[in-house]
Amino acid sequence: MPDGQVHSARPENSFDTVLIANRGEIALRILRACKDLGLKTVMVCSQADRQASYGALADTFLCIGPAGAGKSYLNKDAILLAARLTGAGAVHPGYGFLSENAAFSKAVEDAGMVFIGPTAQSIATMGDKIAAKSAMIAAGVPCVPGPDCELPDDHASVEAIALQIGYPVIVKAAGGGGGRGMRVVLEASALQEAVAITREEARQAFGSPALYMEKFLQHPRHIEIQVLCDVHGNAVWLGHRDCSMQRRHQKVVEEAPAPGIAPDIIGPVAEACVRACLQIGYRGVGTFEFLYEDGAFYFIEMNTRLQVEHPVTEMTSGIDIVQAQIKAAQGMPLEVGQSSIAVDGHAFECRINAEDPTTFLASAGMITALKLPSGPGIRVDTHVHAGYKVSPYYDSLIGKLIVHAPSRPEAIAAMRAALAETEIEGISTNLPLLRLLFDDESFASGGTDIHYLEKWLKQRS
Ligand code: ADP
Repeated sequence: MPDGQVHSARPENSFDTVLIANRGEIALRILRACKDLGLKTVMVCSQADRQASYGALADTFLCIGPAGAGKSYLNKDAILLAARLTGAGAVHPGYGFLSENAAFSKAVEDAGMVFIGPTAQSIATMGDKIAAKSAMIAAGVPCVPGPDCELPDDHASVEAIALQIGYPVIVKAAGGGGGRGMRVVLEASALQEAVAITREEARQAFGSPALYMEKFLQHPRHIEIQVLCDVHGNAVWLGHRDCSMQRRHQKVVEEAPAPGIAPDIIGPVAEACVRACLQIGYRGVGTFEFLYEDGAFYFIEMNTRLQVEHPVTEMTSGIDIVQAQIKAAQGMPLEVGQSSIAVDGHAFECRINAEDPTTFLASAGMITALKLPSGPGIRVDTHVHAGYKVSPYYDSLIGKLIVHAPSRPEAIAAMRAALAETEIEGISTNLPLLRLLFDDESFASGGTDIHYLEKWLKQRS
């Protein structure tokens, strides 16, 4: 957006109470943003989270169903009822659960409340990876080679598509997410079976057998662009992140900015993302995810929600992304223009998971002792404390350790010190693994690809 185009419209969707339809660290993060903005909060929870101490920080804390997420955090009717009963004017879905559910966005708005996220239509378009790819191609965003259409049923046509793309290819579910529903195919002889298995998986996991195919990039980095849009036709990008440290397609460490990428290479790609937002009438926060290989960017998907790793961009941009998201939902015009957004220093985030550091099996139970790091440039986003019982029902993420320093080497040093200060007893966590990773020379030199962590883990086992 060129500066000077910041509109000065009056807030249209004002609300004073936000229902937080999530749990754990992100529920607490959203609660804090609401408090900072002077908004009242309603926190819903499952029976398993009833004792969670962060609930007491909300103006209202309400149990909406049993431990299983299907009957609580994914239960649209129960959440809407809770919102009506408590007089909430808006619903914040956080990440995961109902955050990218178009029907939920619509149901919230049909009930006369504000959904703190994009419209149902934007969510539906971007949730269908084929439709998303078409929209991106139309906006001039570079995509992974491969057609933006569903794979046909007859094998001969599928084979022809694979040949045209060139092996290796990757078969992906149009409705996939969470790193599931994709399969790499190295040669023609493996294609038919791979398509059949992925189709069945897609049908079962995502309710749609639709698949598409693209080139499998062999040594890419995962780089993503954070955008922020209001409802007045203003959109900006807040910087980029490198999330290449992944295990089973799940991010473990994230950083901002992505190291070693020249502004003149990322700039045009980010500008195309901003254009795409304006073309699809996007509102609120979102992330364009790319693979980056040999100096070129390839769009893979857009996440139409707040992301786990948003803090690294908050640290380097100085912008509170959750507050900005809520203000955009209130109908306020963006407070920043593109030319006033700058990257300051370097930030890392470590995801602290309750899991065994070698087998990666989830570890539930009581945290008996907890020591968290502190000092300049250190931020910990967590809902846990000594005496907190980690539930076996949900995601294993128990906290995020974030550091911010003037340069990447200084941020690495700060993270090493912060990890050394952190102690969690009573359950297993991936802290030992994170400490080793921050001592690794290749990681420290920056720019490792998405396969690096798994190879590194294999060498150590
Ligand atoms: P999800 O929605 O399940 O997260 P994505 O499309 O974002 O799926 O892909 C997740 C991860 O899978 C990427 O970060 C990357 O590691 C890998 N991946 C996806 N598409 C490709 C591709 N075309 N080539 C190589 N790796 C890929």
